[in-house]
Amino acid sequence: MTKPTQSCVFCRIAQKEVPSEILLENDLALVFADIHPSAPVHYLVVPKEHIETVSHLTRSHAPIAGELILLAKEAAHQLGLSGYKLVFNVGRAGGQIVDHIHLHLLGGWKQVDSN
Ligand code: 5GP
Ligand code: ZN
Repeated sequence: MTKPTQSCVFCRIAQKEVPSEILLENDLALVFADIHPSAPVHYLVVPKEHIETVSHLTRSHAPIAGELILLAKEAAHQLGLSGYKLVFNVGRAGGQIVDHIHLHLLGGWKQVDSN
């Protein structure tokens, strides 16, 4: 496991050193509200392990990578979202600002029938 750094805000949130509005948490990851929402509902799904970007994922991270999607789905259900977007920004050119991998859960624009 990569060492969490004191300079990484998402490591510090995972360690409860920085406050956040946590919706869900398990051994591998947590879901908390984005501090500057880009949608009516905006949460971040973040692994507890410090991994910089999707580009740094290896096959050994498969359980963590899968957990991010499953937690996002559970959070969306808990939030009553019938539809939503899941987004990874990857690298500066992809809009990533925080160098600790995170999955954006975005929704709440409208509620329509879904699958
Ligand atoms: P990125 O652009 O790296 O994909 O997204 C980083 C996200 O983290 C942004 O939406 C930003 O608002 C959010 N963010 C940055 N710092 C904090 C923080 O200290 N707490 C919370 N809850 N969200 C943060
Ligand atoms: Zn980190």
